[in-house]
Amino acid sequence: MPEQKIAVVTGSTSGIGLGIAEAFCQAGMGVMLNGFGDPDEIESQRARLADTYGTVVEYHGADMTKADEISDLIAQATKKLGKVDVVVNNAGIQHVCPVDEFPVDKWDAIIAINMTSAFHTTRAVLPQMKERGWGRIINLASAHGLVASPFKSAYVTAKHGMLGLTKTVALEVAEQGITVNAICPGYVRTPLVDKQIPDTAAARGITEDEVIRDVMLGGQPTKKFVGVEEVGAFAVFLASDAASSITGASLSIDGGWVAQ
Ligand code: NAD
Repeated sequence: MPEQKIAVVTGSTSGIGLGIAEAFCQAGMGVMLNGFGDPDEIESQRARLADTYGTVVEYHGADMTKADEISDLIAQATKKLGKVDVVVNNAGIQHVCPVDEFPVDKWDAIIAINMTSAFHTTRAVLPQMKERGWGRIINLASAHGLVASPFKSAYVTAKHGMLGLTKTVALEVAEQGITVNAICPGYVRTPLVDKQIPDTAAARGITEDEVIRDVMLGGQPTKKFVGVEEVGAFAVFLASDAASSITGASLSIDGGWVAQ
């Protein structure tokens, strides 16, 4: 039997992170969940994944704005699960607003959670990956890591930065069996997307239906949201040995958005 791989997925109490965690469990991996939410709901998700897939699933509530809590996430995952082979930097938030009205605290939070947290997990986990000569870092960027949209200055900045971090770390560890890649999804229907529909409607002066049809799916040639399970399956592939020559890449899963 091949040795079980262990993954830490940040922001995995909801949406894409939860989908990736579930796909990893289905693939037989052990997972450390992370993110915010109601403690009872998080525990029932943890237990459901562990029971359904017969694998080890733990939870750590590190706040991705806090460097010491992020270090503790990697330390506790290593202690409780034995090691960390895969890190998925997925936690993220959004705020939609013109740049000259953008609240400074929202800017700081988006840069910290959507970008800087990946630096902290990376620096904490790389020593053990180097020691074993195997590792996978998967950064959830976005189509907004490659192209911009108005009113998302902090998010677009953080996601472009995430691609810079991905490329740089990939080059630093390329000879050590560690790959570092970014997934760039288009619109995936998750709570993060649902929350920005009313704000985008207000910022653009259009209805919520028009936001979905014209703003979100208007630029996505398939005219369909990307499925959470599709992103999960893609992450499983990137975490496999079959993907060992894919590194430093910004990989779109966006229904053709950035092909335009
Ligand atoms: P979501 O709101 O469903 O989930 C976000 C997760 O991050 C939750 O588990 C939440 O608790 C966690 N989180 C938020 N702040 C945190 C903090 N300070 N510390 C720890 N955890 C925190 O969002 P989602 O749509 O699943 O997004 C996940 C990632 O995918 C984000 O990085 C997002 O930018 C990216 N993404 C999403 C889409 C989309 O259309 N949904 C598209 C491209 C990229």
